[in-house]
Amino acid sequence: MRRPLRIVLLGPPGSGKGTQAHIISELYGVPVITTGDMLREAVANGTEYGKIVDSYMSRGELVPDKIVNGVVGERLNRSDLENGFILDGFPRSTPQAEFLDGFLEEHDLKLEYVIHVTLDDEAIVKRLSNRRSCPNCGEVYHLVSKPPKKEGVCDKCGSELILRDDDRPDVIRNRLVVYREKTQPLLDRYMEKGLIKEAPGDHPMERLPELLKRVLG
Ligand SMILES: [Zn+2]
Repeated sequence: MRRPLRIVLLGPPGSGKGTQAHIISELYGVPVITTGDMLREAVANGTEYGKIVDSYMSRGELVPDKIVNGVVGERLNRSDLENGFILDGFPRSTPQAEFLDGFLEEHDLKLEYVIHVTLDDEAIVKRLSNRRSCPNCGEVYHLVSKPPKKEGVCDKCGSELILRDDDRPDVIRNRLVVYREKTQPLLDRYMEKGLIKEAPGDHPMERLPELLKRVLG
């Protein structure tokens, strides 16, 4: 049996990080765990931290690092992660990274890799600003990779498609600036530990498994 594979994935919104996470998961048989899923699960299961998360979310407030860390701790303690995990969306800040280091050390575990999915800002802007959404049923299209059958109209419900504010070039550029500011300390931290592996985000989908195998060895 191969050794457990514990991976953190870092990458900007629109880099294709989620896709890479799922391919790694299939290749190596380890689950992807995302912060969003962990928070939702904790709330649904009514765990100790889940109740606190719920109180923040129902007020529409951001869940503080300390509470997110508690949820992640609960999740990492469950028994389905013996073969490892792929963390997508955590850590997102230095206090979260410090928590993860401490947790792993305490349990005598270690991270194998931090995969940094890279894509330059203009490519991301191009990718995301081609998205069109249906305000009625929520279906998402992409003018290049998943165009609607009839221009500007939702295949599913016939509503007129819109460019969401989040997908406007100026808003995307702004988000990327914020993302890079928050992420650089994490990249520095993991670089120092020698854990960073770069994975280009502009690879054609069908060649991703091969690329990831090469990156991960
Ligand atoms: Zn629709």
